[in-house]
Amino acid sequence: MDIPEGAATEVLVVGAGIVGLAHAAEALRRGHRVTVIERDRRAVGASIRNFGHACVTGQSGDLAELALVARERWLDLDAAAGLGARPTGGLAVARHATEMAVLEELAGLRPDDVELRPADRVRADLPGGGSDDVVGGAALLADLRVDPRITVGRLAAWLHDQHGADVRFGTAYLGFDGTHAHTSRGRIAADHVIVCVGHDLDHLYPAVADEHEVRRCSLQMARAADPGREVVPAVLTATSLLRYPAFAETRAAAALRARMETERPDLLGIDANVMFTQRPDGTLLIGDSHHTEPTVDPFLDEATTDLLSAEAARVMGLPALTLVERWQGVYASSPHRPYLVAEPEDRVSVRIVTSGVGMTIAHGLARRHFPH
Ligand SMILES: Cc1cc2nc3c(=O)[nH]c(=O)nc-3n(C[C@H](O)[C@H](O)[C@H](O)COP(=O)(O)OP(=O)(O)OC[C@H]3O[C@@H](n4cnc5c(N)ncnc54)[C@H](O)[C@@H]3O)c2cc1C
Repeated sequence: MDIPEGAATEVLVVGAGIVGLAHAAEALRRGHRVTVIERDRRAVGASIRNFGHACVTGQSGDLAELALVARERWLDLDAAAGLGARPTGGLAVARHATEMAVLEELAGLRPDDVELRPADRVRADLPGGGSDDVVGGAALLADLRVDPRITVGRLAAWLHDQHGADVRFGTAYLGFDGTHAHTSRGRIAADHVIVCVGHDLDHLYPAVADEHEVRRCSLQMARAADPGREVVPAVLTATSLLRYPAFAETRAAAALRARMETERPDLLGIDANVMFTQRPDGTLLIGDSHHTEPTVDPFLDEATTDLLSAEAARVMGLPALTLVERWQGVYASSPHRPYLVAEPEDRVSVRIVTSGVGMTIAHGLARRHFPH
């Protein structure tokens, strides 16, 4: 539907992924009049293609602060809007002493967040009884899960229906002239514009994207049939311990990396984060690989999917998984910072998560944007 002539808003949010909706929710809480525009007819970006894992325990420093604020906000929003957020925790599975050493070191540093688990208890949480080589693991107590397929759609509908946000799909942002945002369906007068378009920042503000070397990180994912058992936590493995900062910053991580370089160059070669979460229908979201480039190659590599699927099956203790879907996700990535906060012009802010933790920190970023 075209925008009526004379339309006006206080806060215009561009993009109805989790980053945009988190900022819209926070602006509404502060009593602002809010409009959200999304170019697609429904959100189909990174926010619906991921694991739905708020990896709170795995963050450190500034990201941990953002993640803790976001965790609280996920639970509040869930209570109000029924987003399906669950404080399930995470489970890091260790299959070698070098992996256990990372978990033990972190548990020593953060005993309130990380609870070590013996091998039999870890196996009991895995659908096929776990791999024979499981040596132990750790519960990541602050982690939380949402169902990515439904969460942002529900949040957008709730903001629109219950809180008076004007959420307009099929409406692309083209730019701002100092008083009006120009869109594919007309103009909107806006006091402030918050641009949350993820990796497509270069389409709108190429100078900002260039300055921060924002690229597209493409990831291969798959969904496997219900293994017939509930898997409550988000399950992480050795490659996850090399990726998330709280693990990767331990002293023990160097030995883990050295071993993986020798023993698992196949996983490091696709920059894997082998992990899985379960959807409410029992199917498992399995992933993922990472490849960063300015423009994404659209072709999925079958060998990458085979490797990820075989590795996930091995961790679970199952002979194989039956895949029912495959897809590619893309998120913004910068070698310089995990998120990007910029003001490219007067009254326009850019908020982009540039490290693959948007589900974990978006609400925290939004709270910082509207501190009072
Ligand atoms: C496979 C995969 C797995 C991941 N797993 C996790 C995880 O488990 N935990 C975690 O914390 N993070 C995870 N992430 C990262 C997380 O999904 C992202 O950081 C987050 O979704 C980014 O949110 P966003 O709103 O910026 O982007 P998006 O969800 O991509 O939303 C941006 C929106 O902007 C819209 N848009 C673009 N240009 C315009 C325009 N000109 N006008 C209007 N609208 C526009 C797009 O259509 C899109 O809907 C994962 C990402 C992927 C791809």
